[in-house]
Amino acid sequence: MYELNDKIRNLKPYDPISGEYQIRLDANESFLPIPEDLRAEILQRIDEAAWNRYPDPTAAGVCRAFGAYYGVLEECIAAGNGSDELIMILLSSFLKRGEKLLTISPDFSMYRFYGSLAEAENVSLTKPDTLRIDPDDVIRTIRETGARLVIFSNPCNPTGQGLTRDEVRKIITSVDALVVLDEAYMDFWNESMIREAGQYDNLIILRTCSKAFGMAAIRLGFAVANKRLADVIRAVKSPYNVNTFTQLTGEIVLSHQDLLREGTKKIVESAAALAKEIAAISQEFPGSFTQFPTCTNFVFLRSERAEKIFKKLLDRKIAVRFFRLGEVGDFLRITAGNPDENAALCAALREILKEG
Ligand code: PMP
Repeated sequence: MYELNDKIRNLKPYDPISGEYQIRLDANESFLPIPEDLRAEILQRIDEAAWNRYPDPTAAGVCRAFGAYYGVLEECIAAGNGSDELIMILLSSFLKRGEKLLTISPDFSMYRFYGSLAEAENVSLTKPDTLRIDPDDVIRTIRETGARLVIFSNPCNPTGQGLTRDEVRKIITSVDALVVLDEAYMDFWNESMIREAGQYDNLIILRTCSKAFGMAAIRLGFAVANKRLADVIRAVKSPYNVNTFTQLTGEIVLSHQDLLREGTKKIVESAAALAKEIAAISQEFPGSFTQFPTCTNFVFLRSERAEKIFKKLLDRKIAVRFFRLGEVGDFLRITAGNPDENAALCAALREILKEG
């Protein structure tokens, strides 16, 4: 009988919340639709595309549009089939088997997953009770363990909190390890390192079109680094990793810079309004949960009753994300939706807390 190896034997497919929920606040997606005239333009371009040809392996057009939006040189950018694919590519190529990967917990779960597939040895640093990363702890841990690569999200999914540019710079310049800085949510904050990515020889920044730009469906992410590292990423990725339709859609949407900026602003406003309303609920029901500050498009709550609240929200056709993080506790992560969705979520939360 064919034996599966032990790194894959017990794996289960990624299992997001499925089923019909009227209100989806569980995946940190954008609540804004792509405007109809833009959709029509995209569909027209897809119709005209050469379906029988392989896509451009360098994804030049979409990288150019991305670079123009952020003020980054095209030679410093590589595109991926979602930033998720880039995480897998980076961990499997910049680490050799048995080398140490530092992850900081809690953080985006895929880092460890792809690290284990790459047969890296995971070193985990647990965040303190505030769930804020202490840069000095990161530096010390890298030095003590000899970690070759550290990856973390900034701002963090799921905690919603982030490090400032100065704090990130301190980490990058104090270690020899490669720092992979996942800025999936940085459009909602203003501490990005993207403009200075080219200055460091040990920094790779990841960005995604799935959050602020409302294109989770097309699977498009980017890695930004100095040319030497970007060349390596382009060399190790599979040649046609970003399909033609994604490249076209991304290029068109990313060249509408005002639309991106306005959309991002709306999402930030929605997140601020949601955070404020949830803080009011916390006052009305003292002791029911602890809310963390956020610089993302979601709020993060610690509650002993998180699982119960999560299930009762599902009963009301509202999906949020529940986390059980070992000894750290039970949490809810709620993505900011449109004003109606936020209002429905808050009304349901009040009802559920009233029931006790
Ligand atoms: N990084 C972080 C921190 C995320 O939260 C996510 C999406 N949940 C990703 C990466 C993956 O994004 P993409 O859709 O680009 O694969």
